[in-house]
Amino acid sequence: MGEGWRGAAGSRDGVGLQLMIHSVLFDMDGVLFDSMPAHAASWAKVCTEYGLKMSVRDVYLNEGRTALSTIEVLTQRTWGRSTNQEEVDKIYSLKCEEFKNYPEAPVMPGATAVLDAVLNTGQQIYIVTGSAQDSLLDRIYSHFPGYFVRERVVSGKDYTLGKPNPEPYLIGLKRAGVTADEAIVVENAPLGVRAAKAAGIRTIAVNTGILDDADLLNEGADWVFPSMAALAEAWSELQKTL
Ligand code: MG
Repeated sequence: MGEGWRGAAGSRDGVGLQLMIHSVLFDMDGVLFDSMPAHAASWAKVCTEYGLKMSVRDVYLNEGRTALSTIEVLTQRTWGRSTNQEEVDKIYSLKCEEFKNYPEAPVMPGATAVLDAVLNTGQQIYIVTGSAQDSLLDRIYSHFPGYFVRERVVSGKDYTLGKPNPEPYLIGLKRAGVTADEAIVVENAPLGVRAAKAAGIRTIAVNTGILDDADLLNEGADWVFPSMAALAEAWSELQKTL
C-alpha cells in the first residue's frame, strides 16, 4: 500500500468483504472531472455580485447541495431570510452562464485508471451526481466512452433531496440492485461523504480540492486519498483490507 493515504478508525471492520463489494458509486464533479475550480469560481462570483456572501472555500464546503439548498444557506446567512424558487432560478441560470466562460473541465487525472481498476476487479461502476446540467452529463459518455450507460448514471434530475441527504445514494443502491454493504462510494466533497455514510455505505474520499483531509474524515470518510491516481494505484491492495 502506498504512502500518502490513510484510513479512519471506522474502516477496520471487515471480514471477507472483498467478495461482497459488487458496485462502486462515483460522484462526478471533483472525482471524474476536474470541474470544481470552475464551479467554485462561478458560484462565488455570481453570488457575490448578487450580494450574497460566498467564498471559494464556501463552495467546496457546500458542494453536493442542490442549487436551492445552496442559495437557502446563503440567504439565511447573509440576510436571515429564506430564498424562493424565482430567486434560485435567477441565480442558478447566472451561475450556469458564468460557468460557460471557463474552459471545458478536463477528465480528472487518474480517473480512467480507477475505473479500469474497478472493472478489472469485477465490480460494476455507477455515477451518483448532484449535477443536472445536460452539458456536463453528456460529457460522461464522450469522455468515458464505453464505461457508463444512462441507466447507471443517477443525476440531480432523478431526485429532489440532494446531498447531504442520503437519497441520491439510496437511489444509486437501488439502481445497482445491491445493499449498502455491497457497495463503496468515491467522493470528494464533505457533504457527499455525509450523504453516502447516511446511506450506510463505506466511503472513500479523494481530496482533489482545496479542503483539509480533516474536512472529509470529520464527515465519516473511511479512507482519504490525495488523488484519483493514488487510489488507482492502491485499488487492488485496498480490496484485501475490506
Ligand atoms: Mg464532487
